Amino acid sequence: MPELNYIGGEWRPARSGATDEIIDPATGRVMGTAPSSGPEDVEDAVAAARAAYHEWSHTTPRHRSEVLTAVADAIAANMDELSSIECANVGKPVSIIEFEMDLTLDNWRFFAHAPRFMEGKAAAEYVEGATSYVRRDSLGVIGSIAPWNYPLNMATWKLAPALAAGNTVVLKPSELTPYSALKLMEITADILPPGVVNVVCGRGTTAGEALVAHPGVAMVSLTGSVRAGKAVAATAAQTLKRVHLELGGKAPVIVFDDADVEAVVAHLAESAYYNSGQDCTAPCRIITGAGVNDRFVEAMTEATRGLKVGDPTDAEVAMGPVVSEAQAQRVAGFVDRALAAGATATTGGRRLDREGWFYEPTVVIGVDQGAEIVQKEVFGPVITVQSAPDEATALAWANDVDYGLAASVWTSDVGRAMRMSRELEYGTVWVNDHITICSEMPHGGYKQSGYGKDMSMYALEHYTEIKHVMIKH
Ligand code: NAD
Repeated sequence: MPELNYIGGEWRPARSGATDEIIDPATGRVMGTAPSSGPEDVEDAVAAARAAYHEWSHTTPRHRSEVLTAVADAIAANMDELSSIECANVGKPVSIIEFEMDLTLDNWRFFAHAPRFMEGKAAAEYVEGATSYVRRDSLGVIGSIAPWNYPLNMATWKLAPALAAGNTVVLKPSELTPYSALKLMEITADILPPGVVNVVCGRGTTAGEALVAHPGVAMVSLTGSVRAGKAVAATAAQTLKRVHLELGGKAPVIVFDDADVEAVVAHLAESAYYNSGQDCTAPCRIITGAGVNDRFVEAMTEATRGLKVGDPTDAEVAMGPVVSEAQAQRVAGFVDRALAAGATATTGGRRLDREGWFYEPTVVIGVDQGAEIVQKEVFGPVITVQSAPDEATALAWANDVDYGLAASVWTSDVGRAMRMSRELEYGTVWVNDHITICSEMPHGGYKQSGYGKDMSMYALEHYTEIKHVMIKH
């Protein structure tokens, strides 16, 4: 696969010739390079996407459905190689990659069928002598910006609905993890017409900002940090383009005294450290009932100690490195500051003494609701545990953060589950589960976790505009 941009169906270096090194997180060694693109490369890519737009947007839903099905088939045929690229570039253990790749494939298959079910509202004569109807039109060129934690899956959440709705796309993958997007371009080169999808590699503040600012881009869709979301929204405001933001999270996990504590611990031992905790919905903020707190902390500490951390190519390993030196320092900084302020790590709490960027899975107790580690997204293998005296306090603490992406409630009381689901200010609420997602259901945030939904028919609607047509007769 060429380590180049993919623009208008051609592989091209950045016009400046600049490249960024791509690093293997498990070893810290350089594994390749990618173009470090600038505004001139974005200009080329937007031009290619605009040139392809008219024809693509005028294809029938059936045609787009057939093309996207062929993309899904190409992914299925190249699954092993795509999985290996993702594992190597992000440091993902081979033991966890199947779930994410299966979801990626299913997302493509879902959106391959979606254009055939897109609908406007019914037509009628709202004014005498005229018939009105509502249609959904595509928007134009979509600028999609993806993060590094699930590079191909996050790119899929942006590409598949945008293409299904009849838009063309310029995708900027994370500067840390561009390879699976480039591989996707290679395996779909004969399927997607030139210019329908273009990939421009590079950094957020150069290629990313140029894409957001470009007047030829109709809408920007970002998955990333709250910081990047605010920057993107501010830049996009200059051209008043539509913005779709899937940002950070700080998911509370409320474990009531009537919950099956052993089941919760068994679940969290996997899900809290899945992808090294680098998941926007990661169950990271545990709030237990006072009656089960000691039992939970003891069992969770034990389960966390039992996790095998190390070489991600070892099939027995459950957790690999975090993605970069900067991320390792960020995680260590959060924990060090919490411990300095009086918290305790019942297990973990330090970097592993080995090559690559490994941080021990960590359980932190003795933290207040106002503590930085409770309020801010760590995005690493670290959970905090708080003990709440009653349901009202648990709910208040759960809602008392700037984020609103996902939450879970663990209880055997149906009434309590219903009350909590109603009151939690989060885009997803699980009861007696956490992290499970599916193509048919929407994913997105409240509050500073952003706006707009990924997956589901709601995502498809975001990539369209409603038009009222009135026919006088
Ligand atoms: P990031 O914000 O650093 O970068 C995300 C992407 O935005 C990258 O491609 C980056 O180059 C680009 N970018 C950064 N600044 C930009 C700017 N000013 N203008 C344009 N583009 C810019 O995030 P990350 O570290 O790659 O990913 C981790 C974050 O993503 C976490 O906060 C995580 O919670 C969030 N995330 C959210 C979801 C969700 O569905 N809500 C899913 C996955 C990850």
